[in-house]
Amino acid sequence: MKNQREEIQSQEAGSGKKSRLARLTLAAAALMLTAALSAGCSKDNAASNTKTPESSSAQQTTGTGATQGEVTEPAVAPSESSGTETGNTNEGTGKPDTTKSEGKSEGLKETAADPESEAVLVNKQFGLPDDYEPKDLVYPDVPFTFSEKIDKRKMRKEAAAALEEMFAGAKQDGIYLAGVSAYRSKKTQTSLFNRYVKKDGLEKAKTYSAVPGYSEHQTGLAIDVSGSDGKCAAESCFGGTKEAEWLKAHAQEYGFIIRYPEGKESITGYKYEPWHIRYVGKEIAQDVTSKGITLEEYYDAVQVTGTP
Ligand SMILES: [Zn+2]
Repeated sequence: MKNQREEIQSQEAGSGKKSRLARLTLAAAALMLTAALSAGCSKDNAASNTKTPESSSAQQTTGTGATQGEVTEPAVAPSESSGTETGNTNEGTGKPDTTKSEGKSEGLKETAADPESEAVLVNKQFGLPDDYEPKDLVYPDVPFTFSEKIDKRKMRKEAAAALEEMFAGAKQDGIYLAGVSAYRSKKTQTSLFNRYVKKDGLEKAKTYSAVPGYSEHQTGLAIDVSGSDGKCAAESCFGGTKEAEWLKAHAQEYGFIIRYPEGKESITGYKYEPWHIRYVGKEIAQDVTSKGITLEEYYDAVQVTGTP
């Protein structure tokens, strides 16, 4: 969808001299968009429209009137729309990274198609295969808020290297970051989640903690970060600190995104977490950040609030 959208935009930019071929492509793209929307991703297009009002008559032809935040429809498998819309190999990022339900999970839960991809979408709807464990976990050479050499320091190799670069870059700007929690096995997530449920009840726990098997921390691509003093580690008061501001401004340069941004709770299903960053690679990180969208919107995946 993204590529077609860009294609449409660039075609419109030169609309005075559209070739017949361009018009045909546009028409085809519009058709695909319409098909995709009927598959259930209208909200995301609406959201994109609010970001880029100048873009795409093709989107307007779909007649979507929803605005961002009005996300009341039940979640629908985005796999169909991804397949319909993209139909291309998108920069070799492994996109789309979601696949049809394997039928083994209840309700609307599905399994991420390629958990090994750095661009994998894991959220309340798309979980990891049973007992998934990344194969290339390493210890990034950065300070943590604790000294033990334990699992939660680990990240996948590529993400770890990017993290090291990012911490070094921050240091040059006088910002001293520390890791709080990175990789978490499903087993660890299970005991953590159960503890939260005990404390706050299931519904509240789900707004800030992932159901086991649905945590980005299990991918080895996500990490919670704080300032080196460890103050407000993984807490709301981290927001607005100079470390949080630095991350917001620079994380994408190193291939990370603020995964649960402010104001996107209805899309990500999580409250604002300025400390939780996710490695997706530089290209996607820059795209997502410059557009002010979430990974869900990037993939035109439907909102996930309320599921599972
Ligand atoms: Zn986190």
